Amino acid sequence: MKKLYLKNTHSKKHTQDYRKYFALNRSVAGFNLKTKELIYTLVCDKSDGAFVYDIDKNEYIDLTMGFGSIIFGHNHIPIRKEIELQLTKSWSVGPISPLAGKLAEKISTVTKTERVAFFNSGTEAIMVALRIAKAVTKKKKVVFFKGSYHGTFDSLLTLKNNPETNIAKESIPGVTQSILNESYLFEYGSEESLTFIKKNKDTIAAVLVEPVQSRNPSIQPLSYLQELRFVTEENDIAFIFDEVITGFRIGLGGCQEYFNIRADIVTYGKVIGGGLPIGVVAGKSKFLDALDGGFWQYGDDSSPMVKSTFVAGTFCHHPLAMATSLKTLEILNLSNGKLLHQLNSVTTNFCTRMNTFFTENSFKISIINFGSLFRFIVPGRYKKIYSQLLLNGVYIWEGRNCFLSLAHNEEIIAALEEKIKLSCIQLVENGIIKTKN
Ligand code: PMP
Repeated sequence: MKKLYLKNTHSKKHTQDYRKYFALNRSVAGFNLKTKELIYTLVCDKSDGAFVYDIDKNEYIDLTMGFGSIIFGHNHIPIRKEIELQLTKSWSVGPISPLAGKLAEKISTVTKTERVAFFNSGTEAIMVALRIAKAVTKKKKVVFFKGSYHGTFDSLLTLKNNPETNIAKESIPGVTQSILNESYLFEYGSEESLTFIKKNKDTIAAVLVEPVQSRNPSIQPLSYLQELRFVTEENDIAFIFDEVITGFRIGLGGCQEYFNIRADIVTYGKVIGGGLPIGVVAGKSKFLDALDGGFWQYGDDSSPMVKSTFVAGTFCHHPLAMATSLKTLEILNLSNGKLLHQLNSVTTNFCTRMNTFFTENSFKISIINFGSLFRFIVPGRYKKIYSQLLLNGVYIWEGRNCFLSLAHNEEIIAALEEKIKLSCIQLVENGIIKTKN
């Protein structure tokens, strides 16, 4: 793989030159002494449509697409123009942007949620969703599931549990056991989780799911989600859908629409921000009212009726993010969600063609998808495919979630397929993998 780091000389040099100052965990992801020469992050200073360009002037078909935040393609002109327009008008942080209320109304309509609040990231949205669930139910515990990722909020930041109690178990430095003690971690889809929730209904405030987990997109557990909905509804437990990835991607109404299940609280991020930072908490007034006391009006004796908790953030509902979000929604709405559905079937067809190629050529590799989100399933030595793809001009980040965007047209997808095939063949030629046995 010497060829690869020769291709990425400047990215590698950049990583080395700034390591002393720039503490970046992605520059050490997957560190191994044997392959350390290949451990660096790609540094890109240009992007356009489905492509990113690194500082060595190499072009890559981007399958990372802003970790799934870019649905129209990089540097999409209507989004760019919206930012430029806001810049010429100037903006303020402090007073509320006239765009924020409008965006809340539009998201509420499209997602069939009653109220909407804005934060800066998916992590923040999850943190707030759990806080209001606890505030409203007046209970303390949270159930979440193995295989999901909900950002970096401490009380969800582990993949391990105590097998006897199911209490989440500390597994990384700095996330201490005491902060995990109110979180229960279960196998996604397990009967055990349903039994536990019923049995502990008086202490459980929320059940949090990534309805289709980005790390396991082929698991789309309709009946389990229906059961969770039933059990939570019966027992005054907030059912939270984390739709930071699936929201505004699988369809305009996200997984709620896809599975025809209404959650109590839904979190969004990524796509809706149009490339700028955003986190959204939406859902039933019963829960969202815990942010501001609920609806009241001037000119009569109405007043906030609900005791509120506290949330805040310097950059929440930043005018630039409100503008790009409104534009994103406007474009997606214009097609009534058709653009997203087309992208889903384009992705499924791409995955089917690739899987046929893998099977016909006895490559022990496959691709699974949920709409336009997909992942390669690669055993052992096949993991070298990622470096080979990078060498052949395909960029996939270290977390390996891949996304197609509306900028990945037929021609680009055909080129992508050729690059994937070539990468597999080269791995065989280089003696890294055998196809059969
Ligand atoms: N929830 C899900 C399902 C996610 O995939 C992510 C991020 N990939 C988050 C929450 C956290 O979002 P952010 O990175 O914006 O904090």
